[in-house]
Amino acid sequence: ERKQAELEVDQSHSLLANLASLVPGVVYQYRLYPDGRSAFPYSSPGMNDIYEVTPEEVRIDATPVFGRLHPDDYDSVAEAIKNSALTLEEFFCEFRVILPRQGLRWRWSQAHPQRMEDGSTLWHGIILDITERKQMDETLRESEARFVSMAENSPVAIYRYSDRKGGIYYSPRTQDLLGYSPKQLLADPMLWQRSIHPEDLPKVKAAMEALPSMVELDTEYRIRDAFGQEKWFRDRATSCRQPDGELIIDGVAMDITGLHRAEEEKAKLQVQLQQSQKMESLGTLAGGVAHDMNNVLGAILGMASAHIGTQPYGSPLHQSLDTICKATERGGKMVKSLLGFARQSPAENSKLNMNEILKEQVTLLERTTLAKVHMEIDMEPELRPILGDASALTHAFMNLCVNAVDAMPENGTLTLHTRNVDSDWIEIVVEDTGMGMPKEVLEKAMEPLFTTKGVGKGTGLGLSLVFSTVKAHRGQMAIESEPGQGTRVMLRFPACEKEAQVAAPAVAEATLIPQGALKVLLVDDDELIQSSVRMILEVLGHTAVTTAQSGEEALALLEAGVEPDLVILDMNMPGLGGMGTLPRLRMLRPALPVLLSTGRIDQTALTLASAHPGVTLLPKPFGLRELQKHLEGIGLG
Ligand code: ADP
Ligand code: MG
Repeated sequence: ERKQAELEVDQSHSLLANLASLVPGVVYQYRLYPDGRSAFPYSSPGMNDIYEVTPEEVRIDATPVFGRLHPDDYDSVAEAIKNSALTLEEFFCEFRVILPRQGLRWRWSQAHPQRMEDGSTLWHGIILDITERKQMDETLRESEARFVSMAENSPVAIYRYSDRKGGIYYSPRTQDLLGYSPKQLLADPMLWQRSIHPEDLPKVKAAMEALPSMVELDTEYRIRDAFGQEKWFRDRATSCRQPDGELIIDGVAMDITGLHRAEEEKAKLQVQLQQSQKMESLGTLAGGVAHDMNNVLGAILGMASAHIGTQPYGSPLHQSLDTICKATERGGKMVKSLLGFARQSPAENSKLNMNEILKEQVTLLERTTLAKVHMEIDMEPELRPILGDASALTHAFMNLCVNAVDAMPENGTLTLHTRNVDSDWIEIVVEDTGMGMPKEVLEKAMEPLFTTKGVGKGTGLGLSLVFSTVKAHRGQMAIESEPGQGTRVMLRFPACEKEAQVAAPAVAEATLIPQGALKVLLVDDDELIQSSVRMILEVLGHTAVTTAQSGEEALALLEAGVEPDLVILDMNMPGLGGMGTLPRLRMLRPALPVLLSTGRIDQTALTLASAHPGVTLLPKPFGLRELQKHLEGIGLG
């Protein structure tokens, strides 16, 4: 029986040993004696791997095992053993060992202590190799640290959002972009959404809703940041549906405000460029048309004015001729506007105080417009002067004021503002509280001949004239308007500080005065003008008229001995033209009075007239009365 019992014990021992050898790591008994000695009375063969010692080597004395501990971890292991022995609480420890074959490895141990009769402590426990897990932990920690550093240092806002829990993560940069800290955003799940521009919100929401079915979301929208500043965001996100149905959205938002601004700026410049190119070609066209039109009008006016005096006042023919004269006068005004539009440089360059020009305007308007429009002025008392053409500018502002008054048929306020801007510009704003303009009108308003006003009320030349005047003064012009919100026309002109060189006025020198009928040399390439001016001259009693088709022909006539009392010289002719003819004519006949006729009184004409004594400008188209006045002006009437 005893043998039987011994056999059974042996069997269960070998069973346990077998089992222990199957467990990864080592299964052990560890005994600590009161005198400080310790031993591993039993350890499974795993001891060979875990400490690279045999169970036999440490059965009586555990010292070889302690020799394998990493010096930095020795104390903490010893401390844990002491604690467990003292309190009889479970022993837990993670530590490093340095082994002859395997080198540095991580170990984990757990053991249960019990007190023995002799005062020693006996633990039953296990030690496992956790090196791989430790390495994985380390790799994981490293990659996490890498991700965090990336997320925190990248110039974009990185976020994770759950459809159930709201915000889960916001990178610190979110604060730079949105003005709110990640903490604020986590605390208030709607904060981001509330920052989105109301006009863009539906688009963003729709994109979010479509997200689960899409590979990636990529939207641009405006937001108002914590400081009230508007910015453009580009937001790219992907989504992932969790097994429990929760939707996780990972996204990156970046500030693309600068990009947007640059694009808008580019588009605006493009439009401006197109606009000014269009204006320029229209200007050239208008100039050409106006020139021819002037001659046509001149002929009609000439003929009509020549004969009107021969008809009894009030007779049907007199009335008809009168109407023809009035009609050509109106046509002449339109042509003048067109020429003004086509003009590239101001006719005059004097130093001007725009406040004074505008104040004159106000006085004039107050006298002429009905009381319904209230005028206000808001002027910079120290307004810088500008260099320019007072009459062209007056004309331009008159046009703006007329438009403003037209836009306020019931009542309203017209305000003229002036101020100094930047370091060397002045700004003038003509503002009304009128009906304003819809977008389509605003886009076209500055084009010549564009008008929304009825026949006979608008010519559509007002703003285009203003535009070309502003351009001729190297200024800038912009219009802001919305239906029902009034209109603001903003003009900027370069200011001048230095003394302006004022063009010398044309002084007609005293010339010898012939008596009675004049002999006239008429130089014009247009037959219509030739015959109509000849007609006027004849009516005025000057029947001895010689005509020349060109400057060359006129000079030839003078050289051949023709002795006129007066030359009427057209400025715009093929060949020499007025400009080329005048100096040669002066050499031949130094004192011969000349009327220089032109549709365009500009700087060239003024300079030409003032450079040669005895030359007077005669604006086209002219009728009998105008010519008569000019003749009187130079003492030939
Ligand atoms: P016109 O006054 O002869 O029509 P303009 O070139 O001066 O020609 O103006 C063109 C058009 O621009 C006008 O017909 C009008 O529709 C619009 N406009 C100009 N100024 C104003 C304003 N202050 N308020 C509203 N509309 C304006
Ligand atoms: Mg107008």
